[in-house]
Amino acid sequence: MKNKSFLLENIEIIDIADEGKAVGRHNDMVVFVDGAIPGDIVDVMVRRKKKRYMEGYVASVKKYSEYRKDAFCKHFGLCGGCKWQNLSYDQQLLFKQKQVADCLKRIAGIDTSELLLPIVPSENIKFYRNKLEFTFSSRRWFTQEEGIFADGSKESLGLGFHIPGRFDKVLDVSECWLQPEPSNKIRNAVKKHALDNDLAFFDLRSHEGFLRTMIVRSSLNGTLMVIVVFAYEDEEKRVKLLEFLKADFPEITSLLYVINEKRNDVITDLEIQCFHGVPYITEEMEGVAFEIGPVSFYQTNPKQAYVLYKIAREFADFSGNEIVYDLYTGTGTIANFIARNVAKVVGVEYVESAVADAQKNAEHNNITNTFFFAGDMAKVLNDDFVAANGKPDVIICDPPRAGMHEDVVAQLLKINPSKIIYVSCNPATQARDILLLSEKYKLIKSQPVDMFPHTSHVENIALLHSC
Ligand code: SAH
Repeated sequence: MKNKSFLLENIEIIDIADEGKAVGRHNDMVVFVDGAIPGDIVDVMVRRKKKRYMEGYVASVKKYSEYRKDAFCKHFGLCGGCKWQNLSYDQQLLFKQKQVADCLKRIAGIDTSELLLPIVPSENIKFYRNKLEFTFSSRRWFTQEEGIFADGSKESLGLGFHIPGRFDKVLDVSECWLQPEPSNKIRNAVKKHALDNDLAFFDLRSHEGFLRTMIVRSSLNGTLMVIVVFAYEDEEKRVKLLEFLKADFPEITSLLYVINEKRNDVITDLEIQCFHGVPYITEEMEGVAFEIGPVSFYQTNPKQAYVLYKIAREFADFSGNEIVYDLYTGTGTIANFIARNVAKVVGVEYVESAVADAQKNAEHNNITNTFFFAGDMAKVLNDDFVAANGKPDVIICDPPRAGMHEDVVAQLLKINPSKIIYVSCNPATQARDILLLSEKYKLIKSQPVDMFPHTSHVENIALLHSC
């Protein structure tokens, strides 16, 4: 029975779990269903049966949920990007809010009815992203209606996004609603140029071909970066493509390229060359300008990043005299943003180039009270560090999805600042850390923020007071 598919009929979808999976029940078993939304009644083809749960996909829909919406993107369903486009935005928000409440209840044992503020919706629910990476592939994904084209033919070339779970298959994308124009125009024009000029698309299995990936980064003030990644140097073809981009898209303020002869797609360890313009774009918040280099991290929904930072600052309620630590500071965005509201900010981050960016941004903005250190948090944040930099009154932390290392949590308890502002992109690990911190800290309030419409991801800011 274990790996044999079988059909379950008339399963009502009652909830959404982590990773945005729809949840139904069959007798006492949870059934995770791809392609369904709450309120649907569906027949489920079960692909996997475990002791406590089953996983499957929608074989047919018996009754459509009243919350269903028609997805607006023609690539919906195949593309992994916006899985919730068929769920109304109000319902998306509701389930994100519920996800935060459930995690705090289930993992940290906190009743949130008094302290969980209603989620802040994203101002833009389309074209909200500032960064996309498109992959060239000599073997694109074919839909059933298209049939199969022979590998190597022009029809088999694609430029777009990886099919979820498939490293070697790329969905050819002709429209995407995530990044504002000219992102779509650039991608489609580059594909046409490549086809017209017989440029070879990369083969993700044999590692042959000329064009590998293209990254487009935009900002709210109109600066625009395009990075083209080539598999090897062919000056004539490379220059022709880049000249074409430069001439046809004068909006590009930073046109960069990389020759990546490695097997993997990582470009952070390679030399990135500037073909035209400057090697960065800029973002701005309340008069503080951030230079963003080709490999620098910047929150991918910049409008909501501003909302997020403002709430963090409001939660901290600074008097102006505080020493603040900004842990997992990235390129120092939060640190430099709050610098003028406090006495001093100390940022810690393990990516050295990000720390260099943070310092540079402080200098360019004449900010003299932020100090940045590179290293692994669990090692850097020790007693000597606190002695050298001053005991913080407030700690802001914004760790990656895995949350904080338990040694870091232990150190926070030891340092014992009067307030901790915990910004998180994963309510489950945040709740786990809040439970560990509960030895000395009380959760005062919590504010979910939607940064990623049409996905199940949710950001949450928690304010903890020392008690
Ligand atoms: N607060 C920043 C970035 C948050 S992303 C912003 O809003 O822009 C989380 C950051 O934590 C990343 O930059 C990542 O490099 C860093 N990081 C992850 N694990 C770390 C560790 N063990 N020690 C130090 N920094 C770490």
